[in-house]
Amino acid sequence: MEKKNIDWSNLGFGYLKTDKRFVSQFKDGKWDEGRMTEDDTVVISECAGVLQYAQTIFEGLKAYTTEDGRIVTFRPDLNASRLADSARRLEMPVFPEDRFVEAVKQTVKENAAYVPPYGSGATLYIRPYMFGSNPVIGVKPADEYQFRIFTTPVGPYFKGGAKPITIKVSDFDRAAPHGTGHIKAGLNYAMSLHAIVTAHAEGYDENMYLDAGSRTKVEETGGANFLFVTKDHKVVTPKSSSILPSITRRSLMQVAKDYLGLETEEREVYLDELADFAECGLCGTAAVISPVGKIVDHGKEICFPAGMEKMGEITQKLYDTLTGIQMGRLEAPAGWIEVIE
Ligand SMILES: *Cc1c(COP(=O)(O)O)cnc(C)c1O
Repeated sequence: MEKKNIDWSNLGFGYLKTDKRFVSQFKDGKWDEGRMTEDDTVVISECAGVLQYAQTIFEGLKAYTTEDGRIVTFRPDLNASRLADSARRLEMPVFPEDRFVEAVKQTVKENAAYVPPYGSGATLYIRPYMFGSNPVIGVKPADEYQFRIFTTPVGPYFKGGAKPITIKVSDFDRAAPHGTGHIKAGLNYAMSLHAIVTAHAEGYDENMYLDAGSRTKVEETGGANFLFVTKDHKVVTPKSSSILPSITRRSLMQVAKDYLGLETEEREVYLDELADFAECGLCGTAAVISPVGKIVDHGKEICFPAGMEKMGEITQKLYDTLTGIQMGRLEAPAGWIEVIE
């Protein structure tokens, strides 16, 4: 298969239309068989549930070219079950999990010309999403839905090495204690836009959100979970029912334990203990881990010992090991790598 003529290593994180996308419609209480289409537009009623009441959920994962030239994805079964959880919380029909994985594979396969080559640092980002499509004016769940998957090639997240970022403790809240923070819903992002635009205007890279109930505990950023490393090399991640369960974070915790032999702990993390940690990172599909050099809490600076020039030692090991697994340089735990071709 002939690759597209794209300058892979200079791609940013943006949308580039590829040839094919998957679409399945839910109507009369059931999903149709789904199909691939070249049409990149969606035509729906002006009164569609998604447009009026934000009934929409999504996922994000990547396809990679491995060292030996295969195209693979990473743990798509976890994206399938997380989308199902999101659907249930927003009263949407579940797209069957096995069909989700098949549809992801088919969409990548039909866009194989856009899967960046090994070593370019670029990847094919996969975006599955679902929304209420029929007219809804009284507040209730839609009766009809579309489940779609498109792909777009994205460049290396860190160009010229991962520089630690600076984040601020936000005065805004991301998720209410019994709300929707644990699902991947568009609504969680709509309300985070003002907070992130404000943080950027003040010169910060990201927001650290606290638990909305007591505002004493660390939750996550707008789109990534936290990992902390203690001075004696224990890997700690915050526990809360309003954090989105990152697949990257869950994988890194297992890598820490099984590949690096480190102790791991998922527990409540208090804002006032941050200064005791040696390293901090943000984890998600986009970057795997972004190192955090500094957290600013209303003028009080918490600087991690690894500094602002490079990743901390343990963070770097976690990053190298997980990306090694994803790129086929290291043996993966059973079931982590789904081969497409
Ligand atoms: C998607 C997302 C993450 C990262 O999850 P991954 O599965 O690792 O990509 C973290 N936090 C939020 C709020 C998210 O939406």
